[in-house]
Amino acid sequence: EVVINRIAAGEVIQRPANALKEMIENSLDAKSSNIQVTVKNGGLKLLQIQDNGTGIRRDDLEIVCERFTTSKLTKFDDLSSISTYGFRGEALSSISHVAHLTITTKTANEKCAYKASYIDGKLKGPPKPCAGTQGTQIAVEDLFYNVSTRRKALKSPGEEHSRIADVVSRYAIHNSKVGFSLKKQGETLSDIRTLPNSTVVDNVRTIYGNSIARELLEVSSEDEVLKFKLQGYVTNVNYSTKKMVFLLFINHRLVESTALKKTLEQVYSVYLPKNSHPWVYLSLELDPRNVDVNVHPTKHEVHFLHEDKVVDRIKAALEEKLLGCNT
Ligand code: ADP
Ligand code: MG
Repeated sequence: EVVINRIAAGEVIQRPANALKEMIENSLDAKSSNIQVTVKNGGLKLLQIQDNGTGIRRDDLEIVCERFTTSKLTKFDDLSSISTYGFRGEALSSISHVAHLTITTKTANEKCAYKASYIDGKLKGPPKPCAGTQGTQIAVEDLFYNVSTRRKALKSPGEEHSRIADVVSRYAIHNSKVGFSLKKQGETLSDIRTLPNSTVVDNVRTIYGNSIARELLEVSSEDEVLKFKLQGYVTNVNYSTKKMVFLLFINHRLVESTALKKTLEQVYSVYLPKNSHPWVYLSLELDPRNVDVNVHPTKHEVHFLHEDKVVDRIKAALEEKLLGCNT
C-alpha cells in the first residue's frame, strides 16, 4: 500500500514548484498576511514555508497528512461550490509520501507551538511542544528521496528554483495584500520580497521591474448573465522575446486556459510587432458551479461553462484597452 501511495503521490506532486503551490494555497486559506519561503538546492534539499495564519490544532496534527483529510469541506454540496483553494485533502498526504515532512504550528488558543514529523502519511511520534508564534511552518526535505524516476525527470536545481520563483511571483501579484518572500537558505538577501498591503502595481514594479509596471493598463469587465467578473492588468509592450508572460487566476486559483491564451496571442499579433510578447495578468471570477473542478490536481488547465462567450468578452475588453493606447 505504501508503494501504491508513493506512486500516486508522485503523480500529484511532480516537482518542487507543484508542492510549493499547494502549500501557498494552504497558507492563504489559513488567512496568512505573511508568507516566507526558504529553499535549498532548487527546493530538492529543502522547501520550507512559514506563515502567520490560523495554525493547526494539536489534535489535528495526527490526521492532516492522511489521504483525503481536509478541514475545508463540510458537506457534499460544497463540492460544486468550492470557494477555498483546497478541496482534495491530498497535498500534504502526497508530500509526506515522497519527502521528509515536518510541521511546526501554533493556533491562537494554544499555549505553545507543536512540532510533528511525518513519514508516508503517518506521524513519526507524538507532536512535541516547543516555542513558537502563531502560524505554521512546513518543511519539506529531500523531496523524491524515495522516487528515483521523479528525481531523474527533474531539471537542474537552478531551473527548479526559477519555477519556484515564478510561482511565488504570481501569487504575490495576485495577493498583493499578503507579504511574500523567497530566499535561498543561508543567504541574507531575498530573491523576492513584497510587503503586506501593497498594490498590484507596487508588486509588479518590485518583481517584474518598473519598465513593465509603468506600462500597465487596467482592464475590467463584468456580465451578470454569463456570471463573470474580470479584473487585471495588461501591457502593450514587448516583455519577452521568448513567450508571453500570462498570469491567470480563476476564482483565485493559479490556472491555465489554452483557449484564453490562444485568444490573447491572436489579439496581440495585431498590436505588437512580430516576435514580441507582452506581460498579462488576469483575474477571473466565475460562478464556482460553472467551473470544471473535476480535474486532476496536476492539470492546471481549466474549463468553464460558456467558455467561448466569456473568452470573447475578455477579448473585447482587451482590444478596447489596446486600441485606446495606440491612438
Ligand atoms: P486541503 O487543502 O485540500 O484541505 P491539504 O492536504 O492541502 O488539503 O491540507 C490538509 C489540511 O491541513 C487542511 O485542510 C488544513 O486543515 C491543514 N493545513 C495545511 N496547511 C495549513 C496551514 N498553512 N495553516 C493551517 N492549516 C493548514
Ligand atoms: Mg491544500
